[in-house]
Amino acid sequence: AAAAADTVVTPPQQLPPFDHKPAPYNGPSADEVFAKRKTFLGPSLFHYYQKPLNIVEGKMQYLYDDSGRRYIDAFAGIVTVSCGHCHPEILNAITEQSKLLQHATTIYLNHTIGDFAEALASKMPGNLKVVYFVNSGSEANELAMMMARLYTGSLDMISLRNAYHGGSSSTLGLTALNTWKYPIPEGHVHHVMNPDPYRGVFGADAASYAKDVQDHIDYGTSGKVAGFIAETIQGVGGTVELAPGYLKLIYDIVHKAGGVCIADEVQTGFGRTGSHYWGFETQGVIPDIVTMAKGIGNGLPLGAVVTTPEIASVMAQKIQFNTFGGNPVCSAGGLAVLRVLDKEKRQAHSAEVGSHLLERLRVLEQRHEIIGNVRGRGLMVGVEMVTDRKDKTPAKAETAVVFEKLRELGVLVGKGGIHGNVFRIKPPMCFTKDDADFLVDALDYSLSKL
Ligand code: PLP
Repeated sequence: AAAAADTVVTPPQQLPPFDHKPAPYNGPSADEVFAKRKTFLGPSLFHYYQKPLNIVEGKMQYLYDDSGRRYIDAFAGIVTVSCGHCHPEILNAITEQSKLLQHATTIYLNHTIGDFAEALASKMPGNLKVVYFVNSGSEANELAMMMARLYTGSLDMISLRNAYHGGSSSTLGLTALNTWKYPIPEGHVHHVMNPDPYRGVFGADAASYAKDVQDHIDYGTSGKVAGFIAETIQGVGGTVELAPGYLKLIYDIVHKAGGVCIADEVQTGFGRTGSHYWGFETQGVIPDIVTMAKGIGNGLPLGAVVTTPEIASVMAQKIQFNTFGGNPVCSAGGLAVLRVLDKEKRQAHSAEVGSHLLERLRVLEQRHEIIGNVRGRGLMVGVEMVTDRKDKTPAKAETAVVFEKLRELGVLVGKGGIHGNVFRIKPPMCFTKDDADFLVDALDYSLSKL
């Protein structure tokens, strides 16, 4: 696992300079916070460090712990803080709206929800013009699945193995990661082969994976399906890009079987991939329904489903109501997010900093045998660790050690993939080349210490 024998790797010394002084912290200690969490927040803790990390403040791409120590946040609250922690313009929009009206429900008129829906629709291609606001990605996918079923009159959904589409009971049915599977009734979902160019049995051969989808429809359904759902780059599953050309083939197959195609843009939307505003554009397709959350609100609880007027018309059969969906504070915040992303050219920035990061990681890949695969687009990057490049044996234990070491050095990344052996690097989109350099140097040093 070590770097080439003649290479001496030194740890990076100082985080890139940043002009912010965190407020003095007088709250409970990390151990006290952790004890309360263990008692009152259930046993399902994950992604925490061996020594609890008590985060008390965030500013742009940085987080501060209870001692005032600064960290590079390379995970953005699970790919959620798109513009930066406590971004001043978003903070201002939320604050001003909060002073006027925090909530009144959508049964009255208030212009914020319409303004936000209009701005969001203007970002969509084709006839994707009707917006439904919800509070999370799971809710967005629940609603999308219900729309697909109502519109087609069929129940069968197709999703990919290794996908994560949410933690609610129906979206857990779409999810196909064993770490998230509970023994609850989930019906009418067909999990097809994952078109993963690195680990998939057909490599990057999109046509062979498409044959598997066609077989599922032919042998596992009446021949008619409700819909197909996929992330365009799988997030929780370990930053897995789908084989090039895959979605085009599948969208054709699914449309021929009477189904609708849903793009889950919960992680990939809003310019994160750098090359495109929406992840589905990287595969040259236009979905029938798009779901989004996370980055849409920079941390506010907000999600949305966007579809065509024709598909939306099926929702007129009954009332579709969500108490908080389109809440004025979230709408004002979401509108500010769209504005900031444009004004600060975050998509172009993601492309530029993302390619710099990938370039540097690929150099590291050549020097550290334990890096099996570096992949991603823009600021959605994955580094997969293996103990053996030929067999691709997951280096789970080593990943956990490096994860801790990175934190010691001041870098917080995500960890994921079905084997828990992928570093997920998805920072707020204001992350700079200097941050990327620090991160790569820290990773280099941590790997050299294995
Ligand atoms: N879809 C994707 C691609 C996700 O990554 C997630 C969450 O990680 C969800 C849906 C569910 O979103 P939420 O946690 O907001 O319910």
